[in-house]
Amino acid sequence: MSTAPDVSLWLLIGLPGSGKSTWARHFLQTAPAIAYISTDQIRGELFGNEATQGPWPQVWGQGTYQMREAVRQSQEGELHGALYDATNVRRRDRRRVMQTAQSLGFTRLLAVWFDVPLGICLQRNQGRSRQVPPAVIATMSRQLAGAPPQPEEGFAAIYRLS
Ligand code: ATP
Ligand code: MG
Repeated sequence: MSTAPDVSLWLLIGLPGSGKSTWARHFLQTAPAIAYISTDQIRGELFGNEATQGPWPQVWGQGTYQMREAVRQSQEGELHGALYDATNVRRRDRRRVMQTAQSLGFTRLLAVWFDVPLGICLQRNQGRSRQVPPAVIATMSRQLAGAPPQPEEGFAAIYRLS
């Protein structure tokens, strides 16, 4: 009897500068059969610059298109799912991605939580080319601290990197 393969979504969660994209690069080197979906990369492709916020529906539309493609390729045995690289600090951000992912056919949702102190994120942010305003990162830090990822949100596992 054949069973449908698990289609996993690795949802990254963490402040700007917490190291999500750096970690994703390393992770995908060891697991190349996972699609990489990044809202920053999508902004770069759509607007020519990762720092350009642009209209969110356009970014979201491209993100959901990439999720749908990842499910299709996973069901055909070409991939094992996708990794979604965005800050996802608010519970409602995560809910939106998770509900959409499930409706598209992802069967297993995994959180990778970058539990990195605000001070370190601010320091790393300062040392790179694309900088996020420090006040924005501080606000996000409060949002994440107020609603850290929980199994009840629907995660099969939460990997906490600190
Ligand atoms: P954003 O949400 O803004 O995309 P991010 O979480 O993807 O941020 P990165 O771009 O991966 O963050 O990392 C931010 C900076 O911190 C980079 O300059 C990177 O080189 C550095 N960095 C990432 N991970 C580490 C680490 N484990 N130790 C030291 N520096 C790191
Ligand atoms: Mg990043």
